[in-house]
Amino acid sequence: MASLSLKNICKVYPNGFEAVKDFNLEVEDKEFIIFVGPSGCGKSTTLRMIAGLEEISSGELIIDGKLMNDVEPKDRDIAMVFQNYALYPHMTVFDNMAFGLKLRKVPKDEIKAKVEEAARILDLEKLLDRKPKALSGGQRQRVAMGRAIVRNPKVFLMDEPLSNLDAKLRVQMRSEISSLHNRLGATIIYVTHDQTEAMTLGTRIVVLKDGVIMQVDSPQKLYNEPNNLFVAGFIGSPQMNFVDAEVVAEGSGAALKFADFKVTLPSEKAKKLVDGGYVGKTVVMGIRPEDIYDDADSLEKFSESIVSSEVTGYELLGAEVLLYYTIAGANMTARVNSDTPARYGDQVKLALDVSKIHVFDKETEQTIT
Ligand code: ATP
Repeated sequence: MASLSLKNICKVYPNGFEAVKDFNLEVEDKEFIIFVGPSGCGKSTTLRMIAGLEEISSGELIIDGKLMNDVEPKDRDIAMVFQNYALYPHMTVFDNMAFGLKLRKVPKDEIKAKVEEAARILDLEKLLDRKPKALSGGQRQRVAMGRAIVRNPKVFLMDEPLSNLDAKLRVQMRSEISSLHNRLGATIIYVTHDQTEAMTLGTRIVVLKDGVIMQVDSPQKLYNEPNNLFVAGFIGSPQMNFVDAEVVAEGSGAALKFADFKVTLPSEKAKKLVDGGYVGKTVVMGIRPEDIYDDADSLEKFSESIVSSEVTGYELLGAEVLLYYTIAGANMTARVNSDTPARYGDQVKLALDVSKIHVFDKETEQTIT
């Protein structure tokens, strides 16, 4: 398989629009890299530059030590799977998978062996004689994957390959792609809008905004230690709560004040704010819904960080409940145990786990702690 190196890659479209700005990324052999970010942030453009379907305006694309900028797409040894995986309707599954190899004049018995091997991996063996219209969405998607696999490429590029499938099939295909990655030991770069896909499939996630990389990290690190306000808000669902707060000195430590509430910070977080000269300034406090509690034990444990508000929404998820409320003009969500007695209209007390509080600089939006 393959390693990739993207160095200072930029894309300026003919109309002058800068879609990708100074993109730097080292992809190791067998990595599963995910590109996420809002619509229009440059995910597909970057993928298409790697595939050779879009010219690289400046910078270097290196695959296995070889400069690829001017290499034809067909000579890059890359397979791409798109969301609209357009199979040839008049061809059988076998012929759809064999098509690319036939074009390359691969010997017939070799084609047969490769298609059969891919069919075995994708559990399509019994469907090889069918036409696409006689397949389910998930089976068609697997045929599209099969077309890529038979080529045994160095790198797989996948652009929202599951976006046309219904929720149940997506979950099924997600785990199939994951085991495919393990079995093939392939290097994969995968674009998605879907949080769960990104978090469950990726060995590393690249978060993009306006053509600029915001952070590259493992799913867990992105979730627990976002570099900035954007990543904190983008990764996680329901998203992290944010509220403007004033930093006040408290003994040798610090607390965050907002509305009528004051939250005392643990010493190492307080130190960062004091040392950074934030006392007296407004910052953005962030806390994830699952780090807010309403049970008696937590209210006692986190007695230095309690807020209260009226419940403006109640959503039962099963084992958990989402409580919606407003603090200092900010809409907040708490994800609490479903045995909560809180209901719409109730005044509730909520305890914030202070060790999980994030603080961001209001101007630069960078993480302070
Ligand atoms: P989505 O999630 O909506 O597919 P994306 O992150 O994949 O979005 P791209 O398709 O890479 O985004 O587009 C990045 C930006 O470049 C967008 O603002 C888009 O409008 C712009 N763009 C794409 N193609 C062209 C083009 N041919 N000419 C000019 N601008 C373009």
